[in-house]
Amino acid sequence: MTVALPTGTGRRTVRAALAPIVDFLLPCACIACGSRIAGGGLVCAPCRGRLRAPPAPRCARCDYPAGTGDRPGRPCLECLEWPEALSLARAAVALRPPADVLVHGLKYEGWRELAPMMAELMERRLATLLADLEEHVVTYVPTSSAHRRRRGYDQAELLARALAGRTGLAFAHLLERRRQKRTQVSLHPQQRMANVRDAFSLRPGADRLHGGNVLLVDDVLTTGATARAAAETLARSGVRRVALVTFARALPR
Ligand SMILES: [Zn+2]
Ligand SMILES: [Zn+2]
Repeated sequence: MTVALPTGTGRRTVRAALAPIVDFLLPCACIACGSRIAGGGLVCAPCRGRLRAPPAPRCARCDYPAGTGDRPGRPCLECLEWPEALSLARAAVALRPPADVLVHGLKYEGWRELAPMMAELMERRLATLLADLEEHVVTYVPTSSAHRRRRGYDQAELLARALAGRTGLAFAHLLERRRQKRTQVSLHPQQRMANVRDAFSLRPGADRLHGGNVLLVDDVLTTGATARAAAETLARSGVRRVALVTFARALPR
């Protein structure tokens, strides 16, 4: 059955009249602050407004805000020891409220619907770089298989697929996570590095990317140990350049 809807002003009036019913049937609360969102959506406008890029000025390579003790012109201490192949990192937002709630929601609470919105912010952050990233293949830092089994999805993969869809870049599964000995959470940076050094292996066929470039996607950049290990694994297979993009970046308080 086809229902003829009124046009123009009439249609807007109908939509306005139906809005309270839609809100009643599909109550929408902001994932971050719990306030009601009229007309639907996952995150309210004020919370979206609080999602900010890491503060400038930032390191041109790793995006870390300057002021960590290094003088202008000196190499940034944050990315000094990064593998050469890891040429660039960008984060859409600083890991501060409400970004932390969104990261947690996507990773642990099954809010996979957040991925498109988070990928949109990542694409925006990359906007001026997209011409340089044209030849890059999008892949992701895989989560542990236990986490994937528990959640039914990999949050970084969702972000990577959404970002590839938005940018038109090719998507490929390139990395696999080996069984991890210990969780990263309670470890010091040095221990983290040792813990993740052999965390990844290449999927069959990934060596086809020899000489190519990769845009590596993850949800959060914390110490960089995991991203470094992933980039090193890709570099060992002959990937020339790895650009990392995350939704959020942890910064000192
Ligand atoms: Zn909110
Ligand atoms: Zn840096």
